[in-house]
Amino acid sequence: MNDHKHKSDKPEAATEAPVSLDFIRAIITEDITNNKNGGRVHTRFPPEPNGYLHIGHAKSICLNFGLARQYGGLCNLRFDDTNPTKEESHYVESIQKDVRWLGFDWEDRLFYASDYYDQLHEFALKLIRDGKAYVDDLSADEIREYRGTLTEPGTPSPYRDRPVEENLDLFGRMRAGEFPDGSRVLRAKIDMASGNVNLRDPVLYRILRATHHRTGDKWCIYPMYDWAHGQSDSIEGITHSICTLEFEDHRPLYDWFIEQLGIHHPQQIEFAPLNLSYTVLSKRKLLQLVKEKHIGGWDDPRMPTISGLRRRGYTPSAIRNFCDRIGVAKRDSTVDVALLEHCLREDLNKSSARVMGVLRPLKVVIDNYPKGQVEELEAVNNPEDPSAGIRKVPFSRELFIEREDFMEDPPKKFYRLSPGREVRLRYAYFITCTDVIKNADGEIVELHCTYDPATRGGDSPDGRKVKATMHWVSAAHAREVEVRLYDYLFTKEDPLAVADGENWLDNLNPGSLEVVAGCRVEPALAVAKAGDRFQFERLGYFCVDPDSTPGKLVFNRTVTLRDTWAKIQQKQ
Ligand code: ATP
Ligand code: MG
Repeated sequence: MNDHKHKSDKPEAATEAPVSLDFIRAIITEDITNNKNGGRVHTRFPPEPNGYLHIGHAKSICLNFGLARQYGGLCNLRFDDTNPTKEESHYVESIQKDVRWLGFDWEDRLFYASDYYDQLHEFALKLIRDGKAYVDDLSADEIREYRGTLTEPGTPSPYRDRPVEENLDLFGRMRAGEFPDGSRVLRAKIDMASGNVNLRDPVLYRILRATHHRTGDKWCIYPMYDWAHGQSDSIEGITHSICTLEFEDHRPLYDWFIEQLGIHHPQQIEFAPLNLSYTVLSKRKLLQLVKEKHIGGWDDPRMPTISGLRRRGYTPSAIRNFCDRIGVAKRDSTVDVALLEHCLREDLNKSSARVMGVLRPLKVVIDNYPKGQVEELEAVNNPEDPSAGIRKVPFSRELFIEREDFMEDPPKKFYRLSPGREVRLRYAYFITCTDVIKNADGEIVELHCTYDPATRGGDSPDGRKVKATMHWVSAAHAREVEVRLYDYLFTKEDPLAVADGENWLDNLNPGSLEVVAGCRVEPALAVAKAGDRFQFERLGYFCVDPDSTPGKLVFNRTVTLRDTWAKIQQKQ
């Protein structure tokens, strides 16, 4: 592959691998060729509005909306809202915001499973009339016991053979509110001995007096997810129902429903969900982190939620590129979070304005620089993008540099500032340290330096070399800001792999957030607004947090500059 001698004497096209489709695109291409569904491609993204979307959902969103875009089809947004006790309308709103922010548009195709409650009820009546569903009086515990196990068949409920008329009567009275919550259910009548537990007479409806975020108190019976999901896809004319692997065993059930009802048959295709190292992607667990206040909320910048990533400073295109690169497969695997960060850096490198900011300021006085003088020095806004232009940065006698860029007694490989050593201040001058001032506790509080006026702009006229170029800000002009530095939320690559007696929460990283107050940034940043992104030279990419007030900016460090993924790739 990397043999350039060979590459140069072959035509470019010949060295290119044949375009290979992932297995989902292969299925769709074949369906189009065979004119299945009249050649239509219609997908959907079907979240349950019981939490915020996370990076795993982004994979599904990019896939479903991406397929529609690629094949000239359509993609719906549908809320699978069958669980009134766990669903809330603010989740509905956040989900729409996140899908839009990722760059996708469902146009006028926003649907809810609850839109289909009447239709689903009709479907249930049909199953009852056809002798394919019955009202069961067993308790939830009894139903579980009767269901059997993976190795033992289930036992039929004593109510399984109720006559159709009795079932119709009881189901009507369930709906009319004559029975207490949980006292009866409607079940499909399939096969209690099936090797697939999902086919052992699954529950279709339960009695539940709960106010639904859309249908209010209209219903006191609610369809189960398994009963609503496939039929909702069918009603919407979905051609390819793409879902994660855990639904593979549900497919025979969904197919059974569709066949009994004789309605449009979407093809379900399962793919492996995204797992990410150092990350938990389960809405239930993320909700626990929020409820127990282990983090600041759903949009905490350490959360793998879309809203957390947005607040952290991620760009939609970085997330989309990541989803493209991981692709889709049938087999479960875990993606290295370093790849996500790599995609982020790639994008931010192209688009972010460079600025100078000092996290932990150490004062420097340039003794031979005229008191009261201020120079406006030119700095490049983005070396990757000449159209971004240049800006002026004020330079004066008193500056701040990064505390860790100075060592009084440096080890061999420390090339930055130390007594007697000359370094370059980026875009400014060469300076040499002449004196170190300490307080009563022996802490360094100030450095004295001299500058060489002939090195203005950072170039030496006599070809003199220095080993370090450092960032800085002018003390009098800099703005004081707060910076929040982040590390992974979990200390373990697989946070959920815990031994007996351990809790996954024990793997939370106590050092995942470090708040640094008293940072200084160049004055041009005074006008920055929440969501603005910058590269602080040498320190990483930063984004203005919505916690900022007019008087005080707060920055999140989105990611450092060090790309561990690039290193991993080099080694291979
Ligand atoms: P939980 O996180 O508790 O497992 P969920 O993610 O399944 O819940 P849904 O709202 O049902 O929540 O998910 C909406 C869609 O996103 C589904 O089609 C689901 O298959 C897909 N999805 C969820 N998690 C992932 C993931 N990690 N990778 C890819 N797709 C996912
Ligand atoms: Mg789900």
